[in-house]
Amino acid sequence: MLIDLYSDTATKPTAAMRRAIAEAEVGDEQKGEDPTVNRLQAMTAELLGKEAALFLPSGTMCNEIAIKVHTKPGEAIIADRLAHLFGSEQGGPAFHSGVLVKPLDGDHGIFTPEQVAAAIAPGNYYVPRTTLLCAEQTHNFGGGAVWPLDRLQTVCDVAHANGLATHLDGARLLNAVVASGIAARDYAAPFDSVWLDLSKGLGAPVGGVLAGSATFIAEARRYKHLFGGAMRQAGIIAAAGVYALEHNIDRLADDHNNARRLAAGLGDIPGVIVENPEPATNIVFFDISGTGVPVQTYLERIRARDVRMGAPGSGRLRAVTHLDISEADIDTALTVAREALMRGA
Ligand SMILES: *Cc1c(COP(=O)(O)O)cnc(C)c1O
Repeated sequence: MLIDLYSDTATKPTAAMRRAIAEAEVGDEQKGEDPTVNRLQAMTAELLGKEAALFLPSGTMCNEIAIKVHTKPGEAIIADRLAHLFGSEQGGPAFHSGVLVKPLDGDHGIFTPEQVAAAIAPGNYYVPRTTLLCAEQTHNFGGGAVWPLDRLQTVCDVAHANGLATHLDGARLLNAVVASGIAARDYAAPFDSVWLDLSKGLGAPVGGVLAGSATFIAEARRYKHLFGGAMRQAGIIAAAGVYALEHNIDRLADDHNNARRLAAGLGDIPGVIVENPEPATNIVFFDISGTGVPVQTYLERIRARDVRMGAPGSGRLRAVTHLDISEADIDTALTVAREALMRGA
């Protein structure tokens, strides 16, 4: 069986989740008549401490619709240089919303109130007006780093004081919650909009849920239809999300333990440098240039032995733990990685 550390999107629905899917009550989601979708939205709004929530087919659509609602074409938004919405959504902010992204050089995706203040432009005859601040919790390409709550609060304070809206890409917000013990609603509080991905560590096959004020969600719902994301008997997939929120949050701690075990083991391989030797959550970034084995060769060697990891840009290797990865899988993956790297180029 493949040990798939490429991403936590690799999770497959368990037998119990598939039962919940099979038994889901459904209706016409576009008309607001799917009871399971409505339940998932109510649960998410409650969890995130927001007035309303909207089920969407993907996390990417959560980001893109939020940006669309918060901005007008020709405006500028602020995000970290490694943000998913900047580098991994096919230029969505430019395409869908006509906005310019001003990237900040954060520390593992975490930037400062001073950086935000310096990036905000009120807009004049030449300079586009900055109208939205985006943050990512946990920060994917920052190695699953967890923003401290007070830092999130201070960057949002600067944004709000300058009339910007604030948006949190919470694809892995619940990983931050489990790692820190801080409630999801507390992390979400400084933000006008926030979303959760159901198809990452939570283990559901599809979807994200975007939350915010009732007015924000009413607008988001219009764009959901406009972007072609409105569905029909979507309770079939929302049921997996309900199941995930009920059963799969606390167990994220196992993924974090496995990531630490993996980081420690990788760090023991000569020539390997782990970027985040003590991963805060479920993501490990590492560099193998010291081994002399090219990245592609390494990936092919481990793939031939049923272990998959990824190299999402600029030669950095990434391994992500999740629901379908056990502690024994980590030990197997470490053996395979060590042998692939000790064989020489
Ligand atoms: C995966 C991810 C997304 C996109 O979510 P999809 O459900 O795959 O579209 C957005 N932001 C971050 C930080 C992610 O890791």
